[in-house]
Amino acid sequence: MPTIKHNTITCDVAVIGGGIAGLWLLNRLISGGYNAILFEQTALGSDQTVASQGMIHGGVKYTLSGTLTGASEAIADMPAHWLACMSGKGDVDLQGATTLSDHFYMWSSNSTLSKLTTFLASKATRGRINKVSKNERPAIFQHKNFKGSLYKLIDMVLDVPSVIRTLADNCQGRIFKIDWNKTQWHHNSLKDSTNNKGKNHTVALDFLYDEQDYRLEASQFVLTAGQGNEAILQELGVTLPKMQRRPLQQVMVKHHYPHAFYGHCLGTEMTPRLTISSHPCEDGCQVWYLGGTLAEKGADMAPDEVIANAKKELKELMPWVDLSDAQWATLPVDRAEPKQLNFARPDKAYASTTKEYSNIIVAWPTKLTLCPNLADEVISLLGQQPVTSSPAPDLPFLSPPPIAKTPWQTVFGD
Ligand SMILES: Cc1cc2nc3c(=O)[nH]c(=O)nc-3n(C[C@H](O)[C@H](O)[C@H](O)COP(=O)(O)OP(=O)(O)OC[C@H]3O[C@@H](n4cnc5c(N)ncnc54)[C@H](O)[C@@H]3O)c2cc1C
Repeated sequence: MPTIKHNTITCDVAVIGGGIAGLWLLNRLISGGYNAILFEQTALGSDQTVASQGMIHGGVKYTLSGTLTGASEAIADMPAHWLACMSGKGDVDLQGATTLSDHFYMWSSNSTLSKLTTFLASKATRGRINKVSKNERPAIFQHKNFKGSLYKLIDMVLDVPSVIRTLADNCQGRIFKIDWNKTQWHHNSLKDSTNNKGKNHTVALDFLYDEQDYRLEASQFVLTAGQGNEAILQELGVTLPKMQRRPLQQVMVKHHYPHAFYGHCLGTEMTPRLTISSHPCEDGCQVWYLGGTLAEKGADMAPDEVIANAKKELKELMPWVDLSDAQWATLPVDRAEPKQLNFARPDKAYASTTKEYSNIIVAWPTKLTLCPNLADEVISLLGQQPVTSSPAPDLPFLSPPPIAKTPWQTVFGD
């Protein structure tokens, strides 16, 4: 076999996967002086990021058992971190992104009220929740038939596509669409390797475009491909970490009801009974995007059944809201997380090296909110790796990927 002569390209860090995790990390790496690039296979924000509800929260919804869990501790500082970035004073410049709401609500039916009240009375919530008096209620809860109790959380909801666009705009010339039909992993064994698979093994990426061979040698590859990490790890024969999927079936309701709303209705379970976020459409309508227990329990149901449950929930919780002209659809989508004992929810962002290869880091943020935490974890794993501060490598055979459409744009054609 003749040896193929590759055009060798080098960089400090190559990030694989352009969801919020990869994009946020790329911003941090570039501002830290790393010669970093990112590869996305479809469109930026595909899979979970554009399907998310955009809530940047301090974890209060995870305190519904009445105690602060690991999750709520790790996440508590995140809203302040994002706020600083939105105002141009943080470690990532998000001034181009749009805030949909600077708060969201938590409301309860009378049956869950006492547990919530006891918890809120404790100091554990660090002043992030305020009870809303009757005359301060938002329009949707001004109705005389509303009998529950309402709290306001000082957290925020972001327009996710605008966040993705801003993060991508900050890194022009460093984000590329990768075609895996023309790209493959190459396994390097360093000369002093003693065992078959160990820390002396590294990977590179081989590209075949326009009959030219290119090899990208990155000091470090960081996998932030969400559920796509699973297939990459399998292909590379990496045994740990493993991934778990948390399936959901979200409901989308496009309607002319005038009020936007962002909030969780508390039920008897650890997760909110219903979470509503509102997303503007170009034609002036809004989409209410429904998650929470409705979406978790609906994961295996037929779409019609989940929609029927959503209608029942809204009728029970907000009977005065007229959605008679609404269009309904569902979105089956999985959350991708590092595998936990007993399928627990991970407490914080996850990043780890692998025992098989010295230049692969695997990462899942587990929540949009935790991306700043994820970037810190990855950068700390990069440790003493030299920063070359070189200009972006020249990859003229690759073009930039588009930004993913939201699920409601895809379904309702807005
Ligand atoms: C319905 C829903 C609602 C949510 N709501 C919230 C919320 O309100 N607040 C919150 O904090 N979190 C929320 N989350 C969680 C949050 O969305 C995710 O934790 C976060 O978006 C994960 O980002 P990511 O970049 O790791 O993965 P993803 O967003 O899944 O992005 C992965 C990217 O990698 C690309 N990719 C995959 N395979 C490859 C490959 N082989 N090569 C190159 N690219 C590849 C994909 O195309 C995609 O663009 C929600 C999640 C869901 C599903």
